[in-house]
Amino acid sequence: MSLRPVAAKLADMLHRPIAFVDDCVGEKVEKTANALKPGDILLLENVRYYAEEEANDPVFAEKLARVAEVFVNDAFGAAHRAHASTEGVARVVAKRSGRCAAGLLMERELTFLGDELENPARPFLVILGGAKVSDKIKVIDRLLEKADTILIGGAMTYTFRLALGRKVGKSLVEPDRVEVASATLEKAKTSNVQFLLPVDNIVATPVNTGRLNKKGKPVMEFQNPRVNDSLDIPDTEEGMDIGPQTLKTYCGLIPQAKTILWNGPMGVFEDKRFSEGTFAVARAVAATTQAGAKSIIGGGDTVKALNLTGLTGRVTFVSTGGGASLEFLEGNVLPGVAALSDR
Ligand code: AMP
Repeated sequence: MSLRPVAAKLADMLHRPIAFVDDCVGEKVEKTANALKPGDILLLENVRYYAEEEANDPVFAEKLARVAEVFVNDAFGAAHRAHASTEGVARVVAKRSGRCAAGLLMERELTFLGDELENPARPFLVILGGAKVSDKIKVIDRLLEKADTILIGGAMTYTFRLALGRKVGKSLVEPDRVEVASATLEKAKTSNVQFLLPVDNIVATPVNTGRLNKKGKPVMEFQNPRVNDSLDIPDTEEGMDIGPQTLKTYCGLIPQAKTILWNGPMGVFEDKRFSEGTFAVARAVAATTQAGAKSIIGGGDTVKALNLTGLTGRVTFVSTGGGASLEFLEGNVLPGVAALSDR
């Protein structure tokens, strides 16, 4: 957890010495900070060694702010939590009339996830996937008021399928979210949004290997991958990716978009037998961007998948915030952003 190696790397990248103190508050920090000359850089130790950081303890925030005349926050990925080093410190600096600004990365995040999606060039197409419907249901609800088309993939498909009274076999589902999924489907029907769920899937038979992983969970093996050309999945099978028919429809719609927002893989892309849905969507998004559309990609796993295809440089913007980008898209005020006086 120590930032010491980061200091060495930063010194390498900036071709200049970086001072480092193995604490983030206290006398040593203040003494070193006070001795800095214009242009000097001091990196402090990771604030998360202190429990007071995540508790947003005001006394701790006061201590952090002791060395600050100006506060610049570039941690968009942490902006959805009110922590001492994001929200608390900004409040202290602002109280004594110091300025608190967004850094360049934070500014880009707010521009793309905020301004660009506020008035998107249309058609505005949204692709949502990933493991859980619970993570994204509020985003779907909000985007049903904004998007022209929403394409659903990933394991959240199966919670929607349950809501439609379909069989999901051994697929990953959240039975306690079936009701909200139903409400979302109802809302989609009455909205003007084209809301599409997969019509076919790649399924496989999960077999318990008898081994446990690092977290103590059974390691499963997936056998006999095949196309399941139906909305019902057999009892012994698990849905792993979107199927060829769905892929064809999705990849036909993506090129029509002028703005694309993509969060969440279409399947278990970490296994190459189930990666085609995600990778084909990545290729379509990249090609559509090259043809003039704006594409905004969020979520750690989506970015990982995009990196695997080598297409990261061919999309407009890749967000560094997983949870933060989802909360921002839900329309929440991010405490780390709200605390800034200049954003
Ligand atoms: P998220 O963090 O919610 O975007 O979820 C990303 C994870 O969802 C990836 O690790 C994928 O392997 C996983 N995932 C996508 N589709 C499925 C599926 N059909 N069944 C199980 N996991 C899935």
